Amino acid sequence: PSPHLWEGTPLVEPHGGKKTVLVTGAAGFIGSHVSLALLERGDSVVVVDELNDYYDVEVKRGNLALLREKAQEMSERNGGSPDDLLSIYVGDVNNATLMTDVFERHRPGWVCHLAARAGVRPSIDDPLLYVRANVAGTTNMLEYSRLHSVRNVVVASSSSVYGESGSTYFSEAEDVDYPVSPYAATKRSGELISRTYHRLYDLNITNLRFFTVYGPRGRPDMAPYKFIRRISEGERIDRYGDGSTSRDYTYVDDIVDGVVRAIDRAYPCEVFNLGKGSGTTLSEFIGLVERHTGRVANVRVMPEQPGDVPFTNADVSKARRLLGYEPRVTMEEGIRRTVTWYNKTFG
Ligand code: NAD
Repeated sequence: PSPHLWEGTPLVEPHGGKKTVLVTGAAGFIGSHVSLALLERGDSVVVVDELNDYYDVEVKRGNLALLREKAQEMSERNGGSPDDLLSIYVGDVNNATLMTDVFERHRPGWVCHLAARAGVRPSIDDPLLYVRANVAGTTNMLEYSRLHSVRNVVVASSSSVYGESGSTYFSEAEDVDYPVSPYAATKRSGELISRTYHRLYDLNITNLRFFTVYGPRGRPDMAPYKFIRRISEGERIDRYGDGSTSRDYTYVDDIVDGVVRAIDRAYPCEVFNLGKGSGTTLSEFIGLVERHTGRVANVRVMPEQPGDVPFTNADVSKARRLLGYEPRVTMEEGIRRTVTWYNKTFG
């Protein structure tokens, strides 16, 4: 069967009791937001993150500090020790000793694998690093998950898998075997090895293709963060291309909602787009940041970069139908919230 077909009935578990969820990459942008949401609803979170220096490690330490605060708050609210709610391991998902210890000690029923080397351009400079972190890393997580009878694994994929598919409105049914960067190829590989693990071991695995995620504590290497920072500080911004390239920018809270739904639903083996469902051009994006920062952008126009995809517009009808996912945060509102966070943090 084709990967975009719904193959079976989900294991819908009404969230009564608490889950123990292993979240890899939880010191990162999306992982920290997902972990906060899980803690907030009463789940226990086990973090594995190597705290690499792809961007400022202090940002990641700050994210972990927020998780500790949340675990403390939840233990005060519901009783019990914060240590039962949150455990943090700093290390590589490819480290066998560490991973065996984590799985044996915590016996997580759910795995949310978000750890990865992200970023399209750096993957062109160091493809092997990306293969180790993303392809070997995902394979390891699936291997430990099946050895320890995990009930459901959610794996982060990316809209970059659509590469040169030629379409402007990406649906999961599309042929995605034309990735244009090593990063995209590693994410596609993660989807393929997921399918293999499902076939071989009947492991429930959902791959989620995130579309350009932004929001508070966003990744400093990504355009939305850079633009907000530079326009706020009155610095020049480099715009690659004529500004007409369009991205489906997704506010992080919508992504968290989709991830948590995928954790709870446990489909046997599915791929879902998680995006806003409509694109915003770079020029429109810059205009919104100008409006909310009250600053005029100083734009330097640069040639388009190799590996960049001109459009990423998500068809989210499958996630709507099967996960009940509904992106709620408009660009206007998302940028307003992100600029507010930026001003509060750095203003
Ligand atoms: P991020 O870089 O903020 O977070 C990733 C975290 O994983 C980092 O804290 C890093 O230290 C950790 N990590 C990396 N390799 C590791 C390893 N081998 N072992 C342990 N930890 C490791 O990135 P993010 O934006 O939060 O992305 C999370 C996931 O979502 C990634 O899988 C990424 O590919 C995917 N994704 C993100 C976006 C986006 O727009 N942010 C879009 C599509 C897909």
